[in-house]
Amino acid sequence: MGNRGMEDLIPLINKLQDAFSSIGQSCNLDLPQIAVVGGQSAGKSSVLENFVGRLDFLPRGSGIVTRRPLILQLVNSKAEYAEFLHCKGRKFVDFDEVRMEIEAETDRITGSNKGISPVPINLRVYSPNVLNLTLIDLPGMTKVAVGDQPPDIEHQIRDMLLQFIVKESCLILAVTPANTDLANSDALKIAKEVDPQGLRTIGVITKLDLMDEGTDARDILENKLLPLRRGYIGVVNRSQKDIDGKKDIRAALAAERKFFLSHPAYRHIAERMGTPHLQKTLNQQLTNHIRDTLPGLRSKLQSQMLSLEKEVEEYKNFRPDDPTRKTKALLQMVQQFGVDFEKCIEGSGDQVDTSNLSGGAKINRIFHERFPFELVKMEFDEKELRKEISYAIKNIHGVRTGLFTPDMAFEAIVKKQIIKLKEPCLKSIDLVIQELINTVRQCTNKLDSYPRLREETERIVTTHIRERDNKTKDQVLLLIDIELSYINTNHEDFIGFANDVHRETGTVIRRGWLTINISIMKGGSKDYWFVLTAESLSWYKDEEEKEKKFMLPLDNLKLRDVEKGFMSSKHVFAIFNTEQRNVYKDLRQIELACDTQEDVDSWKASFLRAGVYPEKDQVHKRLPLTRCSLLSFQAHCKQRLSFDFPKTFPLRG
Ligand code: GDP
Ligand code: MG
Repeated sequence: MGNRGMEDLIPLINKLQDAFSSIGQSCNLDLPQIAVVGGQSAGKSSVLENFVGRLDFLPRGSGIVTRRPLILQLVNSKAEYAEFLHCKGRKFVDFDEVRMEIEAETDRITGSNKGISPVPINLRVYSPNVLNLTLIDLPGMTKVAVGDQPPDIEHQIRDMLLQFIVKESCLILAVTPANTDLANSDALKIAKEVDPQGLRTIGVITKLDLMDEGTDARDILENKLLPLRRGYIGVVNRSQKDIDGKKDIRAALAAERKFFLSHPAYRHIAERMGTPHLQKTLNQQLTNHIRDTLPGLRSKLQSQMLSLEKEVEEYKNFRPDDPTRKTKALLQMVQQFGVDFEKCIEGSGDQVDTSNLSGGAKINRIFHERFPFELVKMEFDEKELRKEISYAIKNIHGVRTGLFTPDMAFEAIVKKQIIKLKEPCLKSIDLVIQELINTVRQCTNKLDSYPRLREETERIVTTHIRERDNKTKDQVLLLIDIELSYINTNHEDFIGFANDVHRETGTVIRRGWLTINISIMKGGSKDYWFVLTAESLSWYKDEEEKEKKFMLPLDNLKLRDVEKGFMSSKHVFAIFNTEQRNVYKDLRQIELACDTQEDVDSWKASFLRAGVYPEKDQVHKRLPLTRCSLLSFQAHCKQRLSFDFPKTFPLRG
């Protein structure tokens, strides 16, 4: 067996991993990767193979043998076999075949003539003698391109190595053969680039047996020549002759040990040399890593255990086989679900979630933020609209050249706008439904220990919500259709904005006779010819409009009903100033009379168009409740509808 130290750890990790897999979790001990870097034929593959233990499967030899990165994942398992990512499912039991497959797969991508490729080969080795860890065998660094190799091979290989060894969790084995110039070691140079402090670099000196007679590597192995924080370890791998002669690893290790013990330059440091010591050092690294990882793992497990214990406590008085208990428990759970759901939607004082918005709060946001946003988002091209309006007007007139702007044109345009509300409304419903369903799912979390109950509960409630979904949509569409079927041009919100236009244009809204009661005038009441524009109310002696008696600006004017007017035979309403000023001479209000109530209402409507509203509470009182709510809806949408009207707005008179 190659690796004593590792084997001590195996049972511990195995036990952990078994325990984890039995509760259906994986243990998060991600062990570090170990990458070997060094020049060509430095002995990298040999070192790695030793580290794995007794397996003899990596292609080795002179020249460039490793030509693609080999990511070797060792997986501890009872059976011993290997598997490649590129031919998944095929189990290799014979490790000679593994070696051949590595060679074949290398050629497949690179061609057989010494080409290289950064595309890694992924090999997984399952064995009871390995720990879960990842080793990376890399092509050797070279300066001269041979065969099919690209001219910039030096850089290509460098980039390939760097890609692996920059990772903080990667241990770097910098392999340098003893029979070359150590001070020029490419391996040590590249390791220094990514790990300048040498925290994760281990120097490995191979081929000590091949040094010239009379020379030795004592200075470097004693960490004197090129000091590294973790020092150097010398090894003697199998020579090519040994490999060809199928010298097994056990014999090779014995020979290595004998070499160090008998060599005068290394005898005193023999205990710190050789493959076993290298393995021990790596093992130490892994142990350290595990030690660093374990506390976190432990506290995670402890908190899990605490919550499990709490759960167990809840089941203490629960006798699972008692049928009445079963029914009761079932009912309790379903009831609890109902309560939870309601709390999520309606909100509740107890156990407020401070980290997330509850279902209800999210729905609130849909109504108050998302929906208005969707309304604002609706594209609205005023120029286009004006064009549409003018077409609508012309089309409604047909062959006639109209005098007035027909109401129908206005309605047609407004209806088109109102129809646009359908989409954002439906979208908001979808969002709310989605949130309700999310909430259901969240509330059924508690039923997790009873998957079928959970599933069934979710199914029933969700189906119900879906049914309601359609009903709600029908209802909302109906509401919009109601809006479309009748437009209340008498509503103050509606008039309000029309008024803004009239103010600009001064269009005449109405002409007609009215009786006015101005007491300072002799005879008290008198008939005058009235002209109402968007800006003012004027009255004249007669229809000729020649002799103007007075002009009253409409600013701050309002209307009110007068119960018993100045003429009992007539119907009377009054105009007054909201700022308590006199309207006309020393009068706070002027009273106007018509013959019928219908006339009064019609005049009032005209005043509304001019922006003169009745006293506040009078409008809504007269409207049926449903109209009121529809109107507030309309008011809500008004912003979207407030386009300018054509300058030729209906003339009434
Ligand atoms: P790589 O190119 O760095 O992967 O080097 P290999 O592991 O393929 O080794 C290249 C050649 O050197 C092979 O023939 C090995 O048998 C030989 N070799 C490696 N290490 C040693 C060693 O310590 N002593 C001797 N004598 N030969 C070695
Ligand atoms: Mg190699």
